Amino acid sequence: MKSALLSPFQQTISAFRSAIASASWSDYAFAVLAVGAAFLIYAAFGRVFAYSLDLLCLLAVLIAALRGGLAPGLLATVIAVAAGLAVELRQNEPFVEAHVRAAMVFVLGVVGAIGGENRKRLSRTAQLAGDDIREREAHLQSILDTVPNAMIVIDEKGTIERFSRTAEETFGYDRSETIGRNVRMLMPPPYVNQHDRYLADYLRTGVRRVIGVGREVEGLRKDGSVFPMELSIGEVRMGPQRMFTGFARDLSKLRDAEARQRQLQQELAHVWRLNSLGEFASTIAHEVNQPLAALSNYLRGARSLALDATPPNPRLIDALSRAGDQALRAGEIIRRTRSFLRREGTDIRSEKLDILLREVEALTEMLAKDRNIRVVYPADPPDARVMADKVQVQQVLLNLLRNAFDALQLHEGRKEVRISVAPAPQEMLLVKVEDSGPGVSPDMLDRLFQPMSTTRAAGMGLGLSISRTIIEDHGGRLWHESSPLGGAAFCLTLRAATNEGDDKSGGADGLHH
Ligand code: ADP
Repeated sequence: MKSALLSPFQQTISAFRSAIASASWSDYAFAVLAVGAAFLIYAAFGRVFAYSLDLLCLLAVLIAALRGGLAPGLLATVIAVAAGLAVELRQNEPFVEAHVRAAMVFVLGVVGAIGGENRKRLSRTAQLAGDDIREREAHLQSILDTVPNAMIVIDEKGTIERFSRTAEETFGYDRSETIGRNVRMLMPPPYVNQHDRYLADYLRTGVRRVIGVGREVEGLRKDGSVFPMELSIGEVRMGPQRMFTGFARDLSKLRDAEARQRQLQQELAHVWRLNSLGEFASTIAHEVNQPLAALSNYLRGARSLALDATPPNPRLIDALSRAGDQALRAGEIIRRTRSFLRREGTDIRSEKLDILLREVEALTEMLAKDRNIRVVYPADPPDARVMADKVQVQQVLLNLLRNAFDALQLHEGRKEVRISVAPAPQEMLLVKVEDSGPGVSPDMLDRLFQPMSTTRAAGMGLGLSISRTIIEDHGGRLWHESSPLGGAAFCLTLRAATNEGDDKSGGADGLHH
C-alpha cells in the first residue's frame, strides 16, 4: 500500500536500498572473489578466443548476482568493467572497441544483477511461504494431538493424510508408517470391502450412509489384533478437494468391563443357585430326619417284641438290629450333611490327622476308581493331631483332590495323586497334595488363588480362594509349588496339636465360636 504512493524513482531507490541491506558482507566478498577468479583464469589461459575475458567476467557477475542479488551483482559488474578496460587497454586493444565491449559487459552485468535480485526475492518468498506452511502444519498437528479420540484424515481415494497421536496409540502404528497409505490397513475384513463400497457409492451418488453417523465397527492394530471401536466420519471440502475425517474411540476396555460384569452376574447367579440348592437340601435333610428317627424307634420296638417272642427268632432279631444300625447311620449322614450345608461357625479342635484323611479317602475313593487314578495316602498312618475344624479342612482337601482329579482326567500317561504329611517349622504340620498331571497353566499362576479364576468351563474359580481363607483362618498357609511327580503340588500347614487334651475349641486367634 505504502509503495503505491511513492514515485517510481523513490520506489527504485527504496528497492535498491533493501537490496543493499539484504546482501551480507560475505556476498560482496564473494562477488570480488568471483571477478578475481575470472581474471586469474584469463591470466592462466590467455586469450583463448575472442571475448573470452568478457564472457568470463559476465559469468562471474552472474554467479555473484545469483548468490547475493542486485548489489553484489553491480559491484562485480563495476569491478569487471573497470579491470577489463584496464587490461584490454594495456594489451593495446583499439580504444573504441575496448570501450564498446566494456559498455556491453556493463549493460549485460546490470541485467544479470537485476535478474539475480529477482531470483533471490522469489526464493526468499518461497522460503517464507514454506516456513509458514510448516508452522501451520506443526500447529495443526499439535491441535490434532490434543484430540482425545484417534483422528485420521483421508482423501477421496482413502489415502491417509493425517494421523493423530491417539491414533498412533490406538492402532500401534507410527505416524510415518501410515501417511500416504490406504486407510484399509486399519480395518479387518469385512470392513475393508465395506469401506471401499461406501466411499465409491458416496462419491458417485452423494448419498451419505456413514458420514455424520457414529457407528460401532472393528479396527485392526499393527500387531494383527482386532478391537471394537466407535467411528464417526465427517467431511471437509478444501476447494475442489474433498477430505474425510474419522474419529475413532477404542471400545475394548469398555467391552472387557461389560463382559466381566456379565460374567460376574452369571457367577453370582450360579452361587445363588448353589446356595438355594444348599438350603433346599438342608430342608429335605430336616424333613427326612423326622421319619428316620421314627423308623429307628419302630425298629427298636420291633426288636424288643422279637426278643420277647417265643420261640425267639435269632435271624429276625439280627435283621432288625442291622436295620436299626443303618437307620442310625442314615441319620448321622444327614446330620453331617446339614452341618456342612449350614456352614456353621468354625469349630477348631484337636483332630487325628489320620482319621481326617481316611474320611476324605472314603469320599473320593469311588471317583478316583472311576477315573483310573491311583491315590497314595501316607503309608504310615500318621499319629499326629492337628488343630482343625474337621469339616472345613476336609472340604479343603476334597477341593484339592478334586482339582487334581480334574487335571488328570484328560492327562495321558501316569495318573497319580500323592498325599504326604511332614512336620513343619513352628510346630506346624505340612500336608501336601500333589499330582502327576500337566501342572497349573502359566497364565493361571499369578491369579491361582483369586476368586473367579478358573480354566474349567464349568468351574467357578472359588475353590482355591475359599480353601486359602479356611487354612488362613486356622492360622496356617496354603500355597502352590510344582511337584516332582510332574504336575501341581498344593501345600498347606496346620497347627499341630500336642496331645489329645489340646482341644480347646479354636486354636487360631480370634476365630473361635
Ligand atoms: P475351579 O476348580 O472352579 O476352577 P479352583 O479355584 O479350585 O476353581 O481352581 C482354579 C484353577 O486352578 C483351575 O481352573 C485350574 O486351572 C487350576 N488348578 C487347580 N488345581 C490344579 C492342578 N492340580 N493342576 C493343574 N491346575 C490346577
